[in-house]
Amino acid sequence: LVSSENHPTRSTVRVAGVPIGGDHMTVIAGPCAVETPDQTLRAAQMAKAAGAALLRGGAYKPRTSPYAFQGLGETGLKILADVRAETGLPIVTEVVDAADVELVAGYADMLQIGTRNMQNFALLQAAGEAGRPVMLKRGMNATIEEWLMAAEYIAQRGNLDIVLCERGIRTFEKATRNTLDISAVPVAQRLSHLPVIVDPSHSGGKRELVLPLSRAAIAVGADGIIVDVHPHPETALCDGPQALVDSDIPELADIAATLPALL
Ligand code: PEP
Repeated sequence: LVSSENHPTRSTVRVAGVPIGGDHMTVIAGPCAVETPDQTLRAAQMAKAAGAALLRGGAYKPRTSPYAFQGLGETGLKILADVRAETGLPIVTEVVDAADVELVAGYADMLQIGTRNMQNFALLQAAGEAGRPVMLKRGMNATIEEWLMAAEYIAQRGNLDIVLCERGIRTFEKATRNTLDISAVPVAQRLSHLPVIVDPSHSGGKRELVLPLSRAAIAVGADGIIVDVHPHPETALCDGPQALVDSDIPELADIAATLPALL
């Protein structure tokens, strides 16, 4: 269902009217985690100033450590909905458990399935039935074929509004959090008709790498980028070191505004 063999034209996925794919280069930005109403609103304003058309923000956080901040749950979803009402930015947010899909879909404009859940087949199937577009991140240890097969689980349930997100894979390299597999973008775009975006924040894991990796993503022909921003990353409850700050926003806006011309 997601293969380009049976679907030679590339798909555009619409998230509350915002296109991802086709001639568009879509920027999604926001905090890694929803922490407070003020932090989320300020991050959304940063996202908007950067030219983002969609707001990201996790209310359910799949953390490596069970002692780390796990997200605000439904309280976080309500904060996102309030910020959407205030800024007009539709929401992309992660769901980590099949049992929560209906609840999250009640608030979200797009469901995000994270790297750790790429092969959580019950979650993929539930997301496929939720009536919302789905962003499927590549598993950090997954081949491109496994990633596309995971997308197939969603599509099989009748939902072809799927966006693939390359977010870096595990390699021997320790200088970056993950290794951004930039070649995965054109490979996945050739094998599949689905739009492919890049997460330069979770791949690089360091603020100073996010803008260069964003440029790389766009130069290689990605359909968009999803970027962490935070008004006070030094106090962030999740992934502060990779969040862009206020002073980075003009450059992100510049990338968002000028590089689509290269496509
Ligand atoms: C995220 O985008 O918030 C996230 C946890 O990303 P990943 O699943 O790629 O680690």
